[in-house]
Amino acid sequence: MNEKMLPPIAIELTKSPKARPPADKLGFGKYYTDHMFIMDYDTDRGWHEPRIVPYQPITLDPSAKVFHYGQTVFEGLKAYPTADGRILLFRPRKNAERLNRSNERLSMPTLDEEIVLEGLKQLVKIDRDWIPNEPGTSLYIRPFVIATESALGVAPSREYKFMIILSPVGMYYAGGMKPISIFVESKYVRAVEGGVGTAKTAGNYAASLKAQEEAARLGCDQVLWLDGVQRKYVEEVGSMNVFFRIGDKVVTPALNGSFLAGVTRDSVIQMLRHWEVPLEERAITIDEIVQAYREGRLTEIFGTGTAAVISPVGELCWHGERMKVGNGSAGELSARIYDTLTGIQTGKLEDPFDWTIAIDGAE
Ligand SMILES: *Cc1c(COP(=O)(O)O)cnc(C)c1O
Repeated sequence: MNEKMLPPIAIELTKSPKARPPADKLGFGKYYTDHMFIMDYDTDRGWHEPRIVPYQPITLDPSAKVFHYGQTVFEGLKAYPTADGRILLFRPRKNAERLNRSNERLSMPTLDEEIVLEGLKQLVKIDRDWIPNEPGTSLYIRPFVIATESALGVAPSREYKFMIILSPVGMYYAGGMKPISIFVESKYVRAVEGGVGTAKTAGNYAASLKAQEEAARLGCDQVLWLDGVQRKYVEEVGSMNVFFRIGDKVVTPALNGSFLAGVTRDSVIQMLRHWEVPLEERAITIDEIVQAYREGRLTEIFGTGTAAVISPVGELCWHGERMKVGNGSAGELSARIYDTLTGIQTGKLEDPFDWTIAIDGAE
């Protein structure tokens, strides 16, 4: 349509393709494909020279701003193989839009969303042989932007690189969907309203590692973040959004400007509305959740995010108490959402929401 207006993407194919990793060793983010997408920005030329080149290290000056002031944002989405040999992307436009919202928050230049999508599609097409076929596997796509200007003054960088790399990833739930335990964090906070919590930017993750380490020491898998001001309202779990099933309804924190608006979160909300499951998007306190637990009305908790899609929560660790939620396997609603969403993503189920985009395999 407006393809004509897009600058052509130069393509340099690798002369030494790498060996494919064994499907059972994939894990998450351990292997990278043969090519990567790259495009440069400077204040005179804007974004220019989009190209696909062999996957390789990049060289940056030690004074590049990304190393000192953290101007960097990223995205995460997946390409899924279908049983009939097609490749589907799940709502990639939402990721391109969010990348630009993150860019804006970090005073970084926005990108033409069409070139992001086109670069992504062409790159996936070129490296399509890297997409694993085993059930539950996929190709994780990591677009990101870094500030590359060599200058130590604190001011927005005048130069950037936008890149996309691809990583074949294994089945998240190799031994079936196993509920995780989460530690309700009351000391550290992840982000505050007015800060950068709504941007997918590196600093949020650096800030979260300490709490994650301490939770792991206590035998918990992930951290449930509370709001940064009163430590009272629930925000999200690790790098997932969170849903609670209380009585006959589902409650999820309303977007409040301090946590990330997940694409999976939005999809689950649309799906629950479609199924006419009573759903409330509102502020919810940890006290309300604990009370629902004590009254036996808290029947399911699950996290939502691109990596795991749905992650059932089987245990809450709060003030030294370990509260069991559910019966040790995924709750009924969590399992139904997981099956439907992954069914749509892999083309097994009909897509009434028009969420998937097929990448044409033919050159
Ligand atoms: C990426 C991310 C999510 C989930 O977003 P999706 O678009 O569903 O993958 C939630 N919280 C944080 C902090 C994240 O970084």
